[in-house]
Amino acid sequence: MNSSGKKLSFAARAHSLPRRREFYLALAWTAPFYLALILSLIALVLFLMTPEKMQAFLLVGLTAAALALWAGSFFSRRQARCPLCRATPYFDNGAMAHEKSFRLYPLNCAHTNVLRTMVIQSFRCQYCGTPFDLLKENRPPKDDPDAASANS
Ligand SMILES: [Zn+2]
Repeated sequence: MNSSGKKLSFAARAHSLPRRREFYLALAWTAPFYLALILSLIALVLFLMTPEKMQAFLLVGLTAAALALWAGSFFSRRQARCPLCRATPYFDNGAMAHEKSFRLYPLNCAHTNVLRTMVIQSFRCQYCGTPFDLLKENRPPKDDPDAASANS
């Protein structure tokens, strides 16, 4: 709620991220992991329909690629931390989720956040409920005298 009593939009309430590098790195590992996962499921269906040597090689290769990408995704998602509560919005740690957290069934909150970031560049931390926008610029605090003198 602002002073006029109107509820601000998600974009207006979203916080900027002081350290975005870990979030971009997690997305760079997780997007190809999703792709490899979908392709290996397609390869599995192809193999079950026509069990030939070529389909078997395709299935094994894509599954190996998906596993390697999953490992990179796993460790990079654990590094991306919420600046407010220090939890991992891209990795579910088993703690109770905030009442405002959101998940697309059957995915968990972490993968929902990754997909949301890929589509609308913003997500909500499922532990403290704070919305974040990856594209929002960081601004110095208004009452910071150093920042004020640097601007004048
Ligand atoms: Zn948080």
